[in-house]
Amino acid sequence: MKGLSHKANKNKTKRIRGKIFKGSQATKKLGRFAILLLFPTRCPVCDKPVKPFGALICAKCRQKIRYVREPRCYKCGKELKDNTLEYCFDCLHKNHVYDRGFSLFVYSSVRNSIYRFKYAGRREYAEFFGKEMAEHLGEELLSLNPDALVPVPMYKEKEKKRGYNQAHLLAQALGKEIGVPVCAHFAERTRNTAPLKELGISERQNNLKKAFKIQGNDVKLSTIVIIDDIYTTGSTINEIARECRRAGVEKIYFAALASGSGR
Ligand SMILES: [Zn+2]
Ligand SMILES: [Zn+2]
Repeated sequence: MKGLSHKANKNKTKRIRGKIFKGSQATKKLGRFAILLLFPTRCPVCDKPVKPFGALICAKCRQKIRYVREPRCYKCGKELKDNTLEYCFDCLHKNHVYDRGFSLFVYSSVRNSIYRFKYAGRREYAEFFGKEMAEHLGEELLSLNPDALVPVPMYKEKEKKRGYNQAHLLAQALGKEIGVPVCAHFAERTRNTAPLKELGISERQNNLKKAFKIQGNDVKLSTIVIIDDIYTTGSTINEIARECRRAGVEKIYFAALASGSGR
């Protein structure tokens, strides 16, 4: 993955170099450096300025993050404790609407980080998260030949209040790395649903009924990857997937930043 985006970046740089006077490149670089000095990148784990300077996460903090490892559930992608099984307990007992999914981190190891990413305005974490998703899940996602990444939509008023939709930021950061377009307005949230962490499983499903709408499928997407921050029971992804199927999407996958048993 890294190779691909690196090559694309190199070509882009060459094109730009041909057009712009070399001096202005140096000025731009200096400008970026000055911005970094004034507003150093915060580490997504400890939330302090990253050490070493210029990195996206502290070398020490990186060790605290746990990645979802094999064996993984063939359906939802959660880590399995027993390598003789193909599916987790949840997927053995439930029919998910989506086809398959993947998660990057074990939720308990990034709980505080995701909390700040969602509720404390730390949109800057998206760059690190997107790059990590690309590096660890990119190859698997590209092998599915997706037409687009579709972020889980937020209710408009809620997004206005927060200033951003974290799933959209994730999709943009990932899409940029792996070269897949983001269709941010393909799905829309029509109701302001109660936070899922406060509800039981059956309540979660009722709470989400008719919460999503597809804005027509004029672009004829046939394979999509839904992007979300956390995967737990799959209620949200299933509800969006149901609407996407109705709109004619054939293959529906998801990629989540983290998966865990509780939000
Ligand atoms: Zn740190
Ligand atoms: Zn599963």
